[in-house]
Amino acid sequence: MVKEDSKNDDKFMEKIVSFAKRRGFIFQSSEIYGGINSIYDYGPLGMLLKNNLKKAWFKEMIQLNDNVVGLDSGILMHPKIWEASGHIAGFSDPLVDCKSCKKRFRADHLLEASGLKPDFRPKEFKKHNLKCPECDGELTDVREFNLMFKTFMGAVEDSTSEIYMRPETAQGIYVNFQNVSNSMRLKIPFGIAQIGKAFRNEITPGNFTFRMREFEQMEMQFFVNPKEASKWFKYWQEKRMGWYLGLGLDKKKLKLREHKKDELAHYAAQAIDIEYEFPFQDRELEGIHNRTNFDLKQHEKYSKQAMAYTDLETKEKYIPYVIETSGGCDRATLAFLIDAYTEVDARSGDSESKHETEVVLKLDKRLAPIKIAILPLSKKLDKEVRVIYNMLKTKYICEYDVTGSIGKRYRRQDEIGTPYCLTFDFESVEDKKVTVRDRDTMNQDRISIQELNDYFREKFD
Ligand code: ATP
Repeated sequence: MVKEDSKNDDKFMEKIVSFAKRRGFIFQSSEIYGGINSIYDYGPLGMLLKNNLKKAWFKEMIQLNDNVVGLDSGILMHPKIWEASGHIAGFSDPLVDCKSCKKRFRADHLLEASGLKPDFRPKEFKKHNLKCPECDGELTDVREFNLMFKTFMGAVEDSTSEIYMRPETAQGIYVNFQNVSNSMRLKIPFGIAQIGKAFRNEITPGNFTFRMREFEQMEMQFFVNPKEASKWFKYWQEKRMGWYLGLGLDKKKLKLREHKKDELAHYAAQAIDIEYEFPFQDRELEGIHNRTNFDLKQHEKYSKQAMAYTDLETKEKYIPYVIETSGGCDRATLAFLIDAYTEVDARSGDSESKHETEVVLKLDKRLAPIKIAILPLSKKLDKEVRVIYNMLKTKYICEYDVTGSIGKRYRRQDEIGTPYCLTFDFESVEDKKVTVRDRDTMNQDRISIQELNDYFREKFD
């Protein structure tokens, strides 16, 4: 039976962090040197889970849409791009320090926590006379803190060689708008999708992989006729919500939050967030934005290259509007991990090896890192079972596990979300059949080895 777990407190987050480390999903980066704040490494299982998520996104965005293509642009780009996009002047967060305990906060987060409007206006902050939430000390005035990481290109380190680590993947798409549409002969409406690393020197990173300084985004920019922007904005918000639901995120924990006019970024005409109820708060998983033609226009102005599009049928000429879907791979991976983590009453193993509580990671099969665990009942059967393992591993990520009781091995696989465990026993040698156990139902099928390929094809297709 599923144990009730509110998943709504810090204790649950601590559980997830330690689970993620113990089972090889996510590690603190540079841990042996004391760690580095807000950077994380994905372990063997976490890397598979995140890759499966990215694969599912590419399938949804590129494979299933005739008019969306992919791109993989550089992390380092011409510094003028960030002038044009407004990031150098305005990609900053409002920062305040506590004069007593020296802790640092985002002014907009303090306002939000005090039940005041989350949208931040610098001049008004002082009026509220907020105190440090940690020690009640006095806060400094607000300073704007640019979130972009700088580095130098070439041998000389001076202001002429300064470049930035991209804080979003979107700009790499805008500056390739003409390259992609010409080379692929695309007609509007069409989209360009890419997944890649982004870097932000966040003031208050935290909540595990929710807010990191190096993270991965999955963004799609959909170029449309300005007259149709509202229609596509609605279309993509439904599509994106459908994607999270289709991969099994709990419907009750997902919601849409539309930005009010005074919350909108300078480039946006409409914005809506898909929020997930994380244990610490309802927070953004992905944003869908109508970015107007702000970015293309800015790049036209700064690069002096035309960004207009001519509709060959109607002869209409315009700079396209962009509907952006901007999600984070790490945030989504964390949400799926939290959502799938389920504690149940003991259900496998004999009485000696039984635990009071077991964990079942109820991930969708498409996301599960290991698809099939191959479990010989005895080491003596190794030779026969390896043949099956070698056959299945050409198609699925499989794990071969021969150590411990079968109950223990089932438990280990349930905990990492493996949908199927295949056991080979002494009878298998005779009847050429194996037992396949389903993670969620615990139903066991006795399947002939010859039919295994068809059996799993049906399960995974
Ligand atoms: P937030 O308000 O939480 O800082 P944002 O509005 O700045 O997010 P966007 O700029 O819209 O975020 O970025 C798009 C997506 O990239 C977010 O929905 C999120 O999933 C992801 N993302 C942004 N910043 C981070 C971060 N520091 N760490 C992990 N993921 C991030």
